[in-house]
Amino acid sequence: EIRVRFAPSPTGPLHIGGVRTALYNYLFARKHGGKMLLRIEDTDQNRFVPGAEDYIVESLKWVGIEIDEGITTGGPHAPYRQSERKAIYREHAERLVAEGKAYYAFDTADELDAMRKRMEEAKAPSAQYNAITRRQMKNSLTLKPEEVQTLIDSGAPYVIRLKVPSKEDIRLNDLIRGWVVVHSSQIDDKVLLKSDGMPTYHLANIVDDHLMGITHVIRGEEWLPSAPLHVLLYRFLGWESTMPQFAHLPLLLKPDGNGKLSKRDADLGGFPVFPLEWTDPFTGTVARGFREDGYLPEALVNFLAFLGWNPGTEQEMFTMDELIQAFSLEQIHKAGARFDIQKAKWFNHEYLRQQPNEQLAETIVAHATADGFECSPEQAAKIAGLLKERVNFASEIYAESGIFFRAPQSYDPAVVTAKWNDEAIRALTAFKDALTSVTEPLTAELAKTTLAETMTAIGVKQGKIMQVLRLAITGVGAGPDLMMTLEIIGKQATIDRLQKALT
Ligand code: GLU
Repeated sequence: EIRVRFAPSPTGPLHIGGVRTALYNYLFARKHGGKMLLRIEDTDQNRFVPGAEDYIVESLKWVGIEIDEGITTGGPHAPYRQSERKAIYREHAERLVAEGKAYYAFDTADELDAMRKRMEEAKAPSAQYNAITRRQMKNSLTLKPEEVQTLIDSGAPYVIRLKVPSKEDIRLNDLIRGWVVVHSSQIDDKVLLKSDGMPTYHLANIVDDHLMGITHVIRGEEWLPSAPLHVLLYRFLGWESTMPQFAHLPLLLKPDGNGKLSKRDADLGGFPVFPLEWTDPFTGTVARGFREDGYLPEALVNFLAFLGWNPGTEQEMFTMDELIQAFSLEQIHKAGARFDIQKAKWFNHEYLRQQPNEQLAETIVAHATADGFECSPEQAAKIAGLLKERVNFASEIYAESGIFFRAPQSYDPAVVTAKWNDEAIRALTAFKDALTSVTEPLTAELAKTTLAETMTAIGVKQGKIMQVLRLAITGVGAGPDLMMTLEIIGKQATIDRLQKALT
């Protein structure tokens, strides 16, 4: 069984790159009938941010990513919050020490600084705690066992460090990047357990992925440099044969392609990079969210799916189910993906067009009522049908629908100069009179035939007066389908507006 996880750290709002990571994990799990886990990696107490965990849960729910196992659902490997699993990590760290694969280190911050300075002065290739420098430091490899015991008994703070081999190539075959080889001298003796008893990300992540039976680690490219260390940890812990496969997702690049979209980009030139609005609990600063900006979750999902992947066909519109069907790790690109908000808007436009008019009508009625206009649900549905093709966001529909509620307050002077002449006045007057004798409710169809018949009767070419008719009704020379506009405003308002324009 395929088992994947999304393992965010609750250090702030979930960045859009994180949502893409979650999405790809979810698509992969669903495609293969596997399980999607949600684990919270909250072992860095200094970076804990209140509300961040709830925000993550709410975001995933909004975009439609379902969790099979994790903090929201529980499951056979609970708890799924790392801060509640401290004892497990310590046990594994101690086992590594007992087996000679890790060691206690008692160095103070000053001693570590001094070591780094010495290495820099000696122009050493790197100033790390490693196979060379560890020999001069205060740790269980250099101290006598009794000294180590005395220090521990006296309550001296210590960390547990991984004993990284000095000369060895560490390899891993990433499903997206191919073979990655790193020489172990490039890796320092990473801290596994901190002096406060908390594990570091590396230890907790590997222990949990193993215990939770994770088969595939799908995560952002920023974690690729850590992957060799993780391979080493799997080996030292004796879990190499069940090590998960790695797939590191391409970077998300800034809209101009210049540099990567970072976790610090809270607002990129006026558009959101978070799924939901986020209020910083410390500063009160509000950062925009896709949801509040009027994006439909389907559109966001479709947009994110294409940031780093494509199906290899021309098809662009994918529902979640279609994405699940089409998704494969093989089709993920190596190159970074440009975060192009225009594309997100385009997707939103496409999904908005598909929304039932009746559904969009609700907000139109609510807005209109609040502004003191009368608007029936039927009228609002017609407005939605007419305008949704022309906008990217539902909120823009009402913003553009002023012409249906108000007679024009002014008339575009350019159109007046070009088109307002005796023939136009004659034509509009005739049309107004014809409408007065119409008894049925004015439909677009009826408006059309009435106009056609009237123009034939007075010998005016219809094409010549269409713009001036629109001017009389809406005040401007261009807009949505005019006959449908007349149907929506109704017979009386049409007559009144013609009358007003003619006076
Ligand atoms: N907690 C890490 C993060 O915040 C998880 C990285 C991983 O998936 O291994 O991204």
